[in-house]
Amino acid sequence: MKVTEHLAQAKSTLISFEILPPLKGQGIKSIYDAIDPLMEFNPPFVDVTYHREEYVYKRHPTGLLEKQTTRKRPGTVGICAAIINKYGIDAIPHIICGGFSREETENALIDLNFLGIDNVLALRGDQIKSEAIFEPEPDGHAYASDLIEQIVRMNEGKYLNEELGNNASSDFCIGVAGYPEKHFEAPNFKNDLKWLKKKVDLGAEYIVTQMFFDNSKYFDFVRQCREIGIDVPIIPGLKPLTTKSQLTILPKIFHIDIPEDLADAVAVCKDNDAVKEVAIEWGVQQAKELIASGAPCLHYYTMGKPDVTKAIVSQVL
Ligand code: FAD
Repeated sequence: MKVTEHLAQAKSTLISFEILPPLKGQGIKSIYDAIDPLMEFNPPFVDVTYHREEYVYKRHPTGLLEKQTTRKRPGTVGICAAIINKYGIDAIPHIICGGFSREETENALIDLNFLGIDNVLALRGDQIKSEAIFEPEPDGHAYASDLIEQIVRMNEGKYLNEELGNNASSDFCIGVAGYPEKHFEAPNFKNDLKWLKKKVDLGAEYIVTQMFFDNSKYFDFVRQCREIGIDVPIIPGLKPLTTKSQLTILPKIFHIDIPEDLADAVAVCKDNDAVKEVAIEWGVQQAKELIASGAPCLHYYTMGKPDVTKAIVSQVL
């Protein structure tokens, strides 16, 4: 079932989660361990992130370093199929532009279609460490909006090789990312919103936001989206803190602010158990306010650690 259908049928705010594939060499059990504790909240869908290749350096006995390419967290599509099979809920693969040619994207979408997956979160992806800025593949997409256009064309039965004569259409529901605190590359907030609107105008049917800790950022974001005619559901993305080090790591990686009150409370915690207590209290207040405001769904970035999310959600549902 499509995310938009889940949202339309919901009688109250839904709960959903995002998980990431385990490091290569770990089994599927770690995925189930991340999902099992949260199934009691009846998530209608679970997102599975996509992780592109990285460069690693292998040291030879001679001391020489060899540059190798590896994907440390493969398995997005397989995990989605496993989730659908085991839990009977929808699994949403993230699909990115980075590292994919148009042909590879088309083939990936065909795999998803054959598996009966009818939702995708369409993203650009970030630059890899060796790149200063994001660089698309020679025949790849530069922006998520280009990827959306390709998915929409497949939904219309149009493939890259038009001479094939086959035109089985897919029926993907397309979600996209939005940034209440602005995407880090955008010159300003309004400019970022303009491109977000383009994604929606091209066919995106819902937005999932980057994590935020201050609800006023989300409310402002939703208001400004509505003012420029973005009328699709906007799902808030929430990341409960679990460690003290995230005070600096999350702003660095995700370009978001941690409010002063929360940062101060975490800074005086004597260990990570104390951090989790603060995070639960903050998360409960945040979730209650979002639910009261009519947020369609609370989408938790669990990052494989369901405990704090479980503690929050069990207090607000
Ligand atoms: P875009 O929408 O393409 O925007 C990128 C930048 O370009 C923005 O600054 C935008 O303002 C600007 N822009 C957009 N369109 C145009 C245009 N046509 N012309 C000029 N400028 C333009 N990354 C992963 O690698 N894997 C994941 O699984 C993953 N999941 C995510 C899930 C969520 C909910 C979120 C919020 C992010 C996720 N990311 C993931 C991170 C995401 O890939 C990065 O934030 C990336 O830098 C931007 O992706 P985007 O789809 O928002 O890009």
